[in-house]
Amino acid sequence: MYYSRKRPMMDLPEEMTTIWSCTNDKCNGWVRDNFVFLIQPICSQCNSLMEKGEKMLPILANTCPDQKKL
Ligand SMILES: [Zn+2]
Repeated sequence: MYYSRKRPMMDLPEEMTTIWSCTNDKCNGWVRDNFVFLIQPICSQCNSLMEKGEKMLPILANTCPDQKKL
């Protein structure tokens, strides 16, 4: 019955990440805030407005993995 939450392939730590999600109910587009350079991003899939939210995502290094800062 025991089920490990760890995925066998990847052992990436997750954190609450700020994201923007599409306000269109029929669209599930979203983007990490790190990759948004506009005050009000537009969904790349349907051109709807996006709203800020949070999502549990693997921690993503913005830079090259070799330049890990701890
Ligand atoms: Zn969309």
